[in-house]
Amino acid sequence: MYLKTLTLRGFKSFASATTLQLEPGVTCVVGPNGSGKSNVVDALAWVMGEQGAKTLRGGKMEDVIFAGTSGRAPLGRAEVSLTIDNADGALPIDYAEVTISRTLFRSGGSEYAINGSPCRLLDVQELLSDTGMGRQMHVIVGQGQLDAVLRATPEERRGFIEEASGVLKHRRRKEKALRKLEGMATNLTRLQDLTAEIR
Ligand code: ATP
Repeated sequence: MYLKTLTLRGFKSFASATTLQLEPGVTCVVGPNGSGKSNVVDALAWVMGEQGAKTLRGGKMEDVIFAGTSGRAPLGRAEVSLTIDNADGALPIDYAEVTISRTLFRSGGSEYAINGSPCRLLDVQELLSDTGMGRQMHVIVGQGQLDAVLRATPEERRGFIEEASGVLKHRRRKEKALRKLEGMATNLTRLQDLTAEIR
């Protein structure tokens, strides 16, 4: 599995559609300060479901939409598509290529799609969760973040490892199942009380 193409349209400084073709192995993005290198990484996190505006270096989510320049009017929506080569079947979906898309409208609406079919954020998260590209995005290490990892508590550090290894998904499912079981136990107790009253 590797990231094949990333297309940005109306995302941050990328007003016009811009496609980056990536190859297996290491890719370096070079350019002058402020030319948009970090915006490319933000787009990657965003299309994979990042929900924190701060993580994307903005105040609110709308800040990812091209805000205009002296020569170009602001745009009404941001779109990012990421195509992943899935020839090795690392993603649990029956396609050799998977394209995840995310769109945000300035009016507030938001859409996700997998291979062109509209889906929920949860579907994108589930699709990526076994790859280590999970909800908390520990696969993307931002500037200054290394320091935060080094200063993390043992519990937080365990969280990073669990997220990256895919254990966290099962922990969340277990917690959900336990909550359901608790609900069932409460219902059963109530039922027993009612039965006792009727007798
Ligand atoms: P450095 O090397 O200094 O870290 P960089 O190449 O990583 O820089 P970015 O931080 O990716 O640069 O890009 C910053 C640029 O993106 C700024 O010029 C900023 O004005 C522009 N930018 C950010 N958000 C938007 C937006 N919503 N609309 C238009 N331009 C934006």
